[in-house]
Amino acid sequence: MQEATRCVHVPAVDREGFASLTVPVERASTIVFPTAEAFHNRHRNGPQSYSYGLYGTPTARALEGQLTSLSGGAGTVLVPSGQAAAMATLLALLQPGDHLLLPDTVYAPVRSLADGYLKQIGIEASYCDPMISEGIGRHLRQTTRLVWVESPGSGTFEVQDVPAIVKVAKDRGILVACDNTWATPLLFNPLAVGADVSIEAVSKHMGGHSDLLLGSVTANEEAVLGRIRTLVRGFGLGVSPDDCFLALRGLQTLSVRLRHQGQAGIRLARWMSELAGVERVWHPALPGSPGHEIWARDFAGAAGVFSVSLSSRFSERLDHALGALRLFQIGASWGGAHSLAAPVDLTGQRTVTRPDVTGPLLRFSIGLEDEADLKDDLAGFFAALSATPNT
Ligand SMILES: *Cc1c(COP(=O)(O)O)cnc(C)c1O
Repeated sequence: MQEATRCVHVPAVDREGFASLTVPVERASTIVFPTAEAFHNRHRNGPQSYSYGLYGTPTARALEGQLTSLSGGAGTVLVPSGQAAAMATLLALLQPGDHLLLPDTVYAPVRSLADGYLKQIGIEASYCDPMISEGIGRHLRQTTRLVWVESPGSGTFEVQDVPAIVKVAKDRGILVACDNTWATPLLFNPLAVGADVSIEAVSKHMGGHSDLLLGSVTANEEAVLGRIRTLVRGFGLGVSPDDCFLALRGLQTLSVRLRHQGQAGIRLARWMSELAGVERVWHPALPGSPGHEIWARDFAGAAGVFSVSLSSRFSERLDHALGALRLFQIGASWGGAHSLAAPVDLTGQRTVTRPDVTGPLLRFSIGLEDEADLKDDLAGFFAALSATPNT
């Protein structure tokens, strides 16, 4: 063989005696076949077989399998982000002329998609009070094909009565999809209470280190999952095995991270709820937070993500006071090792309900730092908030 050929063709390596404990990153666009016959038949072996890198690698299959084992259900489809998981579910399960019911607390980019593109193509979305429980019956129409739940909701963390909503929807043959990003299947399992689809922003708690974007859709039935998989493949959405590897690594520590962040978060939220100038803490585990009783009934614990509403007298001081934070970083997303604080703007995000928020709303994501250090940092923030401004 000449040099150029030897540059391309790598000598076979002996794998005997090598067994890594980790899932390997297997990269591919092209997948090769041992015979022409195997190549001809490459699409005949079902969606789990390997035909082209876009349709899955062993690394992606390992992550899909892991997510299915945590959520139950018939299987999982991976997509490049949590938002893509929502998009794929909505576009695969709805057609022009169909109606979609969403909670008023839905993740803002999903609201934008529903009011923008979905509306353009003739899918009508309407919104309901997230606390409506079996009262959703009143919002269902002849044309309703999908009920979306997100529990707890974005910004104000209302916990929805998913079992009651599922029951009403099921009686009318309507599918229910749940954005389960806050809870992950470790704290709440939508499929176990009868939801048809559970979507996760793997970017958040599962990835866990603020360094990857991925989403997943897990469905109770292959018939539903197959519609979503077909749309994802048709749209050419694939995921990188490197990102799947990072997600698999993140998942190994998910349960200890969630426990630490959840417990520290509850203690810090309770402490903040006593501070002067804090009007309200929106945290499912705190009595008085909307849906607290449902959380206590249905959830196995709390994530470390919650919001605090401050007195409106702090509106002017908030940005300045955020500058006093040393450990909490200012940023969106959540579920990573670093604690985050982010002002939440509900403008345009509530069209049928009025949350009891008059002043600034601040969302916290508790990370993996020492809890006492975080409390000191927050104390500095509240001191800066209350200090008389220098004029
Ligand atoms: C972040 C988030 C998403 C979207 O996830 P990305 O991976 O960032 O696109 C969807 N739903 C909820 C509730 C989220 O918090």
